[in-house]
Amino acid sequence: MKILSIALALAVSLAVCAEEESETAVKPYPFDFCIVQEDEKLDPDAEPYAVVHEGRQYRFCCKDCWSEFRENPAPYVKKFKLLLEKKNEEAGSERADD
Ligand SMILES: [Zn+2]
Repeated sequence: MKILSIALALAVSLAVCAEEESETAVKPYPFDFCIVQEDEKLDPDAEPYAVVHEGRQYRFCCKDCWSEFRENPAPYVKKFKLLLEKKNEEAGSERADD
């Protein structure tokens, strides 16, 4: 019966993997600044602080902002949506110098 339980364990772990894979469609973070302190640029060379929240990635300039978001994401999600709307509006109207 040992083989059967090994096979079963394998099947279960494969199912778990497949489930994780279907969740990889995370929307990337579209800004180059921290969502908590928006005047802080993200440093592409530094270790990235990121969180996936409701299928969207959020990025932060430092660990403090990262934990701040994790403790209380609601106001930052709201701010993010406003900023994204603004960004999309700007992209939709006449092109600014890029
Ligand atoms: Zn920060």
